[in-house]
Amino acid sequence: MVSRVIPVDDFDLVIFGATGDLAHRKIIPGLFRRFVAGQIPDTAQIIGAARTEQSDDDFRAEAAKSIVEFGGVKKDDPALAQFLPLLSYVPIDAKGDGGWKELKSRMRKRAIHAFYFSVAPALFGDIAERLAKNGIADSKSRIVVEKPFGRDLQTARALNKMLAQYFAEEQIYRIDHYLGKETVQNLMAVRFANILFEPLWNAQYIDHVQITVAETVGVAGRGSYYDKSGAIRDMVQNHMMQLLCLIAMEPPYHFDPDAVRDEKLKVIRALEPVEAIDIVRGQYQADEDGDGYLADSENPDSRTESYVAMKVRISNWRWQGTPFYLRTGKKLRARTSEIAITFKEPPHSIFEDAGTSGAPKANELVIRLQPNEGMNLKVMIKEPGPGGMRLVQVPLDMTFADALGPEGADMPDAYERLIMDVIRGNQTLFMRGDEVEAAWAWTDPIINAWEESKNRPEPYDSGSSGPEEALRLMHRDNRRWKEIRA
Ligand code: NAP
Repeated sequence: MVSRVIPVDDFDLVIFGATGDLAHRKIIPGLFRRFVAGQIPDTAQIIGAARTEQSDDDFRAEAAKSIVEFGGVKKDDPALAQFLPLLSYVPIDAKGDGGWKELKSRMRKRAIHAFYFSVAPALFGDIAERLAKNGIADSKSRIVVEKPFGRDLQTARALNKMLAQYFAEEQIYRIDHYLGKETVQNLMAVRFANILFEPLWNAQYIDHVQITVAETVGVAGRGSYYDKSGAIRDMVQNHMMQLLCLIAMEPPYHFDPDAVRDEKLKVIRALEPVEAIDIVRGQYQADEDGDGYLADSENPDSRTESYVAMKVRISNWRWQGTPFYLRTGKKLRARTSEIAITFKEPPHSIFEDAGTSGAPKANELVIRLQPNEGMNLKVMIKEPGPGGMRLVQVPLDMTFADALGPEGADMPDAYERLIMDVIRGNQTLFMRGDEVEAAWAWTDPIINAWEESKNRPEPYDSGSSGPEEALRLMHRDNRRWKEIRA
């Protein structure tokens, strides 16, 4: 398996928020890896910007530390010495007037210009305005904006409107790093590059779909931020919605940014409102190893959910009658993200006569996003040996790392891939403004109904699979959640 690296054109990438956590944990180590892979020309410039006063050399030294710490690179790796000269730094306060001229003077005319807004969303407007006012960004520049993109429909609309004053939609790259994950893109390959699944990919053959994103960590350390958000805003409105769209969408006519995003938008618009009875919120409790949510969030009265499970229906021809169950939470039993598609049982079993045992079970396709990215298709076979026609369900298991060899296993991190897509000018894996707004339009009533109610989230034990109520949500439909395990 030979990995193919297609170098990108020469670029100047400005990272606003270059002294921050995201820049140092993800963006800079990611750029280093792409450089090592030979994808970034050695003439490219990566210009850091933030309020902290520091020299180019200070910034390079900090970047080197982060690459070593978060990129698993040795201090004396010769590639580090080759990469660091690409970096430079300009002190800029997004709300001030200093530094912008200096930034402009460093940008080259013929290179691609990209601006990564790795700062709080409250600063997006200040930066966009100053880039335009100072003539730094032009109609070919790209901007990358981080989540959260608004906290409801109104704020997302305001953000879209504000950015639209300075940039065309084709210039705006709204990051949802889930879309950069290899297996998430594989969803499209599995569905649309094989004849096998698509004819069965509908309510006639699929009983239900489960989408699980489970984390073992709690919110300690970022509790005050999380408490204003909660699982629905933090995970469902964006990441899980994107997964749902990729599973449920119609085949786009082409693998083209707008063709793909048009189809995703249709799914979001077809989502039915979620009834109160079809949603369970939870909050993790203290255990001997740590505090509960209320202590971690430093808000003893918090009603914010650290867990949510819901039954979602898509109102269109393809999915009429097939529920999608979503669940996500913190402090759960294992860290895992997966999509499980349970097919219907065969309409008639020929194996029920004397001498046979074990009725056919429904086929199941499990797509694992993490850990051990891969796919697992459960099929029925005859149990080997004498003793009649005994059936047994076995997994056809494919871990991508095993199937594709060491080079295939060396998959770029989501951020690496997405930043390279920005430089290439490919928006397929980024959310369009109308998509984000449609997702909020569906999520807002769920959040509002909760905020108006006096209910508290259901308690659940840290290290468990979530609240009991979530089990009942499934039992009511005679179904079961898949076990949460790594
Ligand atoms: P952070 O660690 O708090 O960093 C914020 C950055 O903004 C710092 O570099 C800070 O540098 C800079 N900054 C603050 N005020 C500024 C101003 N007035 N002018 C210019 N720069 C200013 O935050 P983060 O975790 O990196 O997150 C950045 C963005 O990414 C946020 O929107 C966040 O929601 C999003 N995000 C982060 C993660 C993550 O894993 N960290 C994941 C998903 C999304 P100075 O203090 O030097 O100015």
